Amino acid sequence: MSEQEPAPTNTGIGEPSAEWREYQGAPTGTDIECEGWRQEAALRMLNNNLDPEVAEKPEELVVYGGTGRAARSWDAYDAILAELRDLGGEETLLVQSGQPVGRFPTHERAPRVLIANSNLVGKWDSWEHFHELEAEGKIMYGQMTAGSWAYIGTQGIIQGTYETLAELGRQEYDDDLEGKIVATGGLGGMSGAQPLAVTMNRGVCIAAEVDAHRIERRLDTDYLMERADDLDEALDNAEEAAEAGEPYSVAVEMNVADMLEAMAERDFVPDIVTDQTSAHDELKGYYPSGYTVDEADELRESDPERYVEESLDTMERHVDAILELQDRGAVAFEYGNNLRGQVEDHRGREDAFDFPGFVPAYIRPMFCRGRGPFRWAALSGDPADIHRTDEAVTELFPENDSLTRWIDLAQEQVSFQGLPSRVCWLGYETDDDGLTERARFALRINELVADGEISAPIVVTRDHLDAGSVASPHRETEAMKDGTDAVADWPILNALLNCAAGADIVSVHDGGGVGIGNALHANNHVVLDGSDLAAEKARRVFTTDPGMGVIRHADAGYDDAIDEADQSDVPVPMRDRQ
Ligand code: NAD
Repeated sequence: MSEQEPAPTNTGIGEPSAEWREYQGAPTGTDIECEGWRQEAALRMLNNNLDPEVAEKPEELVVYGGTGRAARSWDAYDAILAELRDLGGEETLLVQSGQPVGRFPTHERAPRVLIANSNLVGKWDSWEHFHELEAEGKIMYGQMTAGSWAYIGTQGIIQGTYETLAELGRQEYDDDLEGKIVATGGLGGMSGAQPLAVTMNRGVCIAAEVDAHRIERRLDTDYLMERADDLDEALDNAEEAAEAGEPYSVAVEMNVADMLEAMAERDFVPDIVTDQTSAHDELKGYYPSGYTVDEADELRESDPERYVEESLDTMERHVDAILELQDRGAVAFEYGNNLRGQVEDHRGREDAFDFPGFVPAYIRPMFCRGRGPFRWAALSGDPADIHRTDEAVTELFPENDSLTRWIDLAQEQVSFQGLPSRVCWLGYETDDDGLTERARFALRINELVADGEISAPIVVTRDHLDAGSVASPHRETEAMKDGTDAVADWPILNALLNCAAGADIVSVHDGGGVGIGNALHANNHVVLDGSDLAAEKARRVFTTDPGMGVIRHADAGYDDAIDEADQSDVPVPMRDRQ
């Protein structure tokens, strides 16, 4: 018997708002509806999250990642818009689990919006209690960027996925993924980035996805090259492309557990096996084997308890198949969806953790240097503004080959969804003026806005998955050197510090990526409108935010972080006493 209680699937969010139907995405251009650009940026980013081109199920307020929502109900969405339109430049709006709950006079340098989503007190911090409250309309699952209005479509994750696979290529093959086959699952909001990230690294990707519409969506947006009629066709095409050293991606409409088992039965061992189905949510994210999508959706409604049992049974088979392929030589890693944790927690299988998570394997060295997924969106809606920032970032960091390669690839291969946006991993490393990489770039963008070279303000934000903003023992903080995987003071300090530094929106969430009770994480936005105030905020926030990554990892004893702190003059008080 699972510890999960049956949970409602209809959370009573009401009928889609007339305002949303009218917007169909973020308003664009230089005329604004709010009192200032900081409030307008919040309004545009919320609507961008719910753009039908961007969100997975916008009519249900679901942005990505299972049921990650941007607002608790359609009524709450309308109320947030009304508050933002009326919000003064010296006021702060409070949003609690997707609905506005208060508004206070603060000051110009304070955040305009503060957000807390899905947080529960430790003892009650479970899906079970969350679902009870959700059914009563008292809480919302914000995932990571959905509830903090920072989601920018699949493009948001693409560089992280690209960087992870590039690092895997360097570590395992001493180069890229040419001639290597990656087998994975999921072609949803974030997971849909996988095929393109593999082909950008010159590899071959076979992805299992149960939902034909998701496959179509990735084909339409060029994240995926082909769809095969069955697994045999996918394997033949993939082998042919790998032998020729050609980048190639193919989807098969099937359950990923069935696909991996079938690969093992056929003695087909992919070079790399991973997964990005929504396994963090056994009821509303992951699909059990043996059902079509429609049949499974029906079962979820009629018998949620049985759905959960069958979902967890499939996850156990899924993990067994990954372990089997790993035994036979595949490089296996979990891609941040808590698949291993689910099978350990609900099926008592400690060996589920016999393959690593992607952070300790490939990302942590970057976190130690404060490197993380800096992202920005053009509030004008004009792609030319992003192209100008592309030039600026490559001019600013000419020695960074991987960044230049990434910008070239992104310009060629990544379609914009909603507001034109870009992502680029940048770190702490200070220059002679003591400015971090992130601050230097933000200040340059602010100058371009001030000079009119960019037509409207740019909003800079990031994923919650960043160097110093997450405690997530099955993902970002898995296997920390000093055993502090579950210490959640760090993301809270991150949010507090970024408020002090003057970020324009700051948020703290529970459960993103890996499910309720498994993570706490924080995020922020800074609006670059060309003003001196924006420059001041950018200089501060883009020092404090990546700086948290450096001090968190230095505190845990990582040499790279200690080296970064020494080189970039970051005070680490307890270490400085030694
Ligand atoms: P999503 O819900 O939009 O997409 C998941 C997809 O998996 C859906 O299309 C669904 O149909 C498919 N699916 C579910 N069960 C399946 C099964 N058994 N076999 C085949 N297909 C199946 O979610 P998303 O935004 O793509 O995120 C996916 C997961 O990755 C989540 O758990 C999320 O938390 C995690 N995630 C990881 C990172 C990271 O950086 N590593 C980032 C974001 C999200």
